[in-house]
Amino acid sequence: MSYQSVNPYDGKLLKTFENLTDKQLDKAIATAATCFETWRRTSFAERAAIVAKAGAIMHARVDEFARPMTLEMGKRISEARGEVEFSSNILAYYAKNAERFLAPTKLHPAVGEAHMESSPIGVIFGVEPWNFPYYQLARVAGPHLMAGNVLMVKHAGCVPQCALAFEQLWIEAGAPVGLYTNLLITHDQSDRVVDDPRIRGVALTGSVAAGKSIAARAGQNLKVSSMELGGSDAFIVLEDADLDHTVKWAVWGKMYNTGQTCCAAKRFIVVEELADKFLDKFQAALGALKPGDPMVEATTLGPLSTESALVDLLKQVNGAISKGAKVVLGGKRIDRPGSFMEPTILTDIKPENPAFRQEFFGPVALFFRVKNEEEAIALANDSDFGLGGSVFTKDVARGKRVASRIDTGMMFVNNISWSDAELPFGGIKNSGYGRELGDMGIQEFVNKKLVRVASMEAPA
Ligand code: NAP
Repeated sequence: MSYQSVNPYDGKLLKTFENLTDKQLDKAIATAATCFETWRRTSFAERAAIVAKAGAIMHARVDEFARPMTLEMGKRISEARGEVEFSSNILAYYAKNAERFLAPTKLHPAVGEAHMESSPIGVIFGVEPWNFPYYQLARVAGPHLMAGNVLMVKHAGCVPQCALAFEQLWIEAGAPVGLYTNLLITHDQSDRVVDDPRIRGVALTGSVAAGKSIAARAGQNLKVSSMELGGSDAFIVLEDADLDHTVKWAVWGKMYNTGQTCCAAKRFIVVEELADKFLDKFQAALGALKPGDPMVEATTLGPLSTESALVDLLKQVNGAISKGAKVVLGGKRIDRPGSFMEPTILTDIKPENPAFRQEFFGPVALFFRVKNEEEAIALANDSDFGLGGSVFTKDVARGKRVASRIDTGMMFVNNISWSDAELPFGGIKNSGYGRELGDMGIQEFVNKKLVRVASMEAPA
């Protein structure tokens, strides 16, 4: 059974769901394609009414949306509520701004006049991960539906209740049949969706392996795609950083969503002068987190999303240790029911250790000590990933200079406040390509069409 809700807090199976048959899938694609023919001709105001309503419903019923997230993938309830609110804001943002972002732009040719216009391209297929069960969906639904496209989404196998709740949201918001379709499908069926000529673009957020597979398939079909993949973001602490401010962000940047965030702080790179002090405080703060029921507001450490996520992470940590890494904190499963992992700090990870290049998706921090700013930059850039990163220093101009030299899609100075509706999100290298959110996010799946008007005779 590929779609199952299992509560990682206690391992209880909550619900299972049947996959679509091939026939049902084909019918769903046909319905989406038919919907596109009318939706593409709706005005921005008509689209905005539905997209804004969907956002308003999420805002009005935060708890109702947040609870299944906490039950299915263990996100602490306060974070789950925050995610629902944020998803609502993203929908409201695109309802308000899409028309302006997609307004025709005038060009200035030597002869005649010309402009670029943006038109929708058709049915877009989204493949989305479990770690932000609604935010990831809002990130594609807000822009692409407002652009006049239609969406079909394959969500991750462990969050089917969130996937269905988001689909139901659009029905309640008054969306026409086929505007937003959740697909409970296998990977093979997903390949067939990508191949289907009625699908015009593919947006994936997930692991590098999934990205390579789906991007290759999209490429074979000459379909436009965007890939939001993994990361191993550097958290650089320079010797003049405000230590208390920095440690608070280090804890949040590592432990938000129990470390299961693509752009979480994963490699802590600290200049020698501050390294011991930073490590002491960081270790004390991580060690103070208490595992508990993520449904309870006071819990400070939730479970991982699934038992297999925990087993894989433990294997990865043990692999790192077997190749020379040292454990400063944690490293083990917590001895209690549920899929809980101790907050963990590993040091002495040499470039020969495979862990040096891996993404650790959970409460595991890799700690590196460097001599100075130059070494910090070199180490931060010695990564196959290029999603985000952060730098902490009291000298903001210095922070900006360092940020400019890091090869990633996003950098944060003295914070790791990753995402806002109006700020583009995405990476380079193995972290993928394309951007979601902001003005850039709505431009990914539109036809940028040149229209030129000129009174001239054809050349002889
Ligand atoms: P994943 O295994 O790649 O799954 C993501 C989605 O892709 C799921 O819906 C999954 O479906 C599907 N999928 C995987 N392989 C597929 C294939 N061959 N064909 C079709 N669909 C496929 O990733 P994850 O472990 O759930 O998520 C964590 C990863 O996502 C991390 O690497 C994280 O950094 C990354 N991420 C990136 C961003 C970003 O914006 N850059 C944001 C969040 C997460 P099933 O569940 O059915 O396998």
